[in-house]
Amino acid sequence: MKLLVVGSVAFDAIETPFGKTDKILGGAATYISITSSILGVKSGIVSIVGGDFPQEHLDMFTDRDVNIEGIEIVKEGKTFFWSGKYHNDLNTRDTLVTEVNVLEHFEPKIPDSMQDSEILLLGNLHPGVQLSVLEKMNQRPKLVILDTMNFWMDCAWDILMEMIAKTDVITINDEEARQLSGEYSLVKAAKKIHTMGPKYVIIKKGEHGALLFHDGKVFAIPALPLEDVFDPTGAGDTFAGGFAAYLAKKGKIDFETMKSALIVGSAMASFTVEKFGTERIEEVSEADMFSRLRQFKELTTFDVELE
Ligand code: AMP
Repeated sequence: MKLLVVGSVAFDAIETPFGKTDKILGGAATYISITSSILGVKSGIVSIVGGDFPQEHLDMFTDRDVNIEGIEIVKEGKTFFWSGKYHNDLNTRDTLVTEVNVLEHFEPKIPDSMQDSEILLLGNLHPGVQLSVLEKMNQRPKLVILDTMNFWMDCAWDILMEMIAKTDVITINDEEARQLSGEYSLVKAAKKIHTMGPKYVIIKKGEHGALLFHDGKVFAIPALPLEDVFDPTGAGDTFAGGFAAYLAKKGKIDFETMKSALIVGSAMASFTVEKFGTERIEEVSEADMFSRLRQFKELTTFDVELE
């Protein structure tokens, strides 16, 4: 199955307790497409950058067989820039700067070559922009996966609700699930979010793993316990990328396949946090991925004898 990714391609400047970076490559669509290329899944990006976006980054995508026909380049514009600083626990961060730049007037255009995509992954963007992508598809993709955040709940509630109503799988973190549903219990939150539209609800719990809810069933996975977490930026996007790419690779959309997809997403995200930005995920090979998946299997497989 073909994967269409809509999301930011950006510059980030990141500060963690271990150091800081200048402007480096970032953006949700960037993490997602790099991750799907590691799984050997072809993706196409729909996004926008400015004339300041280096050719070498575009080449990185094409070298990975990512279709970048849908990345609009506004020569006289500047690329979206985000800067964040993590607290000592690395679970929370402050946004220091958001320069929306070319993203402000982003009107996604779907290239003909990506119109037949079966899976659409809508990275965190204004829900109105996400909705416009669906409207521009000649036919509805088989699966619409939505990533969103609390910011849009605060300032674009109605249109976010409209977008969520058209979503098959929503991925959000625990605090966002609570805000969206008004329920503290994540089980109750997922139930309520189902009624808003999505048949599948994924709740991410950072270093504590993730939950998948569907049709009265729940599946839980841990995050790989890592000795050192260096920079969590992009972990959520990498997770979504691994999840969507696995489904695309298998060509199957059901709860059982999604359980495995959740593991793949989590394993891929465990790489991203090991270095700044995209540095680590860019060097991951297929063999590295398999080895980490084996670690996951060891972590989660056990026998119980009751007698
Ligand atoms: P995550 O750590 O998974 O939340 O994603 C981090 C990425 O999201 C960074 O690479 C940023 O460039 C990008 N990002 C941050 N804020 C926004 C925003 N308002 N719209 C689109 N992308 C954003």
